[in-house]
Amino acid sequence: MDRKEAMRRARERREAVLVRARMLAPEVRELTFAVREGSPIEFVAGQYANFHLGPNGDLQRSYSMAVAPSSGELTIAVTRVEGGPGSIAMHAMELGSKVPVDGPWGLFTLERVPMDAPLLFVATGTGLTPIRAMIEAELATAGTRPVRLVFGCRREVDRLYADDLDAWSAKHARFAWTPTVSRPVEGTPPARVQDRLPAALEELSGHGEPHVLVCGLRAMVEDVRALLKEAYSVGRERIHTERFD
Ligand SMILES: Cc1cc2nc3c(=O)[nH]c(=O)nc-3n(C[C@H](O)[C@H](O)[C@H](O)COP(=O)(O)OP(=O)(O)OC[C@H]3O[C@@H](n4cnc5c(N)ncnc54)[C@H](O)[C@@H]3O)c2cc1C
Repeated sequence: MDRKEAMRRARERREAVLVRARMLAPEVRELTFAVREGSPIEFVAGQYANFHLGPNGDLQRSYSMAVAPSSGELTIAVTRVEGGPGSIAMHAMELGSKVPVDGPWGLFTLERVPMDAPLLFVATGTGLTPIRAMIEAELATAGTRPVRLVFGCRREVDRLYADDLDAWSAKHARFAWTPTVSRPVEGTPPARVQDRLPAALEELSGHGEPHVLVCGLRAMVEDVRALLKEAYSVGRERIHTERFD
């Protein structure tokens, strides 16, 4: 498919039907949609789709696919934001609901990263969603490069997809992940993703120059980007980011 055709298809609004939903954490709901009308949404891990919410479909919100593209479905994970109309609608949506959707969109994928570069992923909250999809896709290849994830959340109960990540690290020697909890239960020191960067970079540097992929809210993404460039001399061509706000 050429670029023009890909853009035409991405702009096409299709009807997506909510077929499954579950809570991943107290404020995070995972929703799986089947695209039943129009052309399928053929995405690359890391990309997102636009959902047209509200009675007239005029409330547009973007959500990254959390599951690697093999099933033909769109699985997303949405944080419920206090007073946020889009995320509240996503949390209230009933099975069988139909939503107009377009996509895929976005360049936050592994397509721009050299095939043999070690990978360091950094995510907070639902910033994990595109990264979860990329890790899943990467581990399904025959590649051997090391893959590390530093994931930050507020509390232990907010560790999204921890079962999947644990299972993948048990199965694939080249993958490891470190959760950091900023407001842990008493007796455990709080930590931020920023604190884990030096050790992760050091560990990967023996395998070549790591590329770092960062996703989450603006403050964290900008802070990590500045640290990578200024404190750890990671060139800008090796830093890839997606911001949710
Ligand atoms: C490319 C892209 C991909 C995205 N993917 C996801 C995703 O996979 N999961 C997801 O939950 N959101 C994702 N978002 C954010 C999403 O599009 C909405 O902005 C979010 O759901 C808030 O919309 P709202 O209408 O509820 O609140 P609004 O009133 O529009 O926003 C209120 C506040 O919510 C904050 N906010 C936005 N996203 C989050 C979040 N994830 N966690 C905490 N606070 C947030 C913003 O800083 C803003 O100040 C993505 C955004 C972009 C641009």
